[in-house]
Amino acid sequence: MSPLVQYVYESDNPADALLSHNILVHQVELCPEVAAFVYKSRQNIYHIVINSSLNWSAQVRVFLHEIKHIEKDLPRAGYVVGLDMQHEEAEINADWFAKETVRAYGY
Ligand SMILES: [Zn+2]
Repeated sequence: MSPLVQYVYESDNPADALLSHNILVHQVELCPEVAAFVYKSRQNIYHIVINSSLNWSAQVRVFLHEIKHIEKDLPRAGYVVGLDMQHEEAEINADWFAKETVRAYGY
């Protein structure tokens, strides 16, 4: 399990807990092909952008998927991942992580 997800899940204020890890979440209307993506700003803030037209459980899943990228992939991959990489190993791992976390927390 991810220490970051654990920390956010147990926090009284998830947004503050995320911000303390330099993570901001934005729910934005995106084109239907894009579920979400994440990028790191020059100020070293991670921005997770989630398509607001997804239903709640799909938003939770993509949020966890992007958290996985922040923890595992972004330090290596530069500053944006998550757009056309469905068949990359990082994508498969992030999807697996999201699925396992959803199961563990019972969303
Ligand atoms: Zn991804």
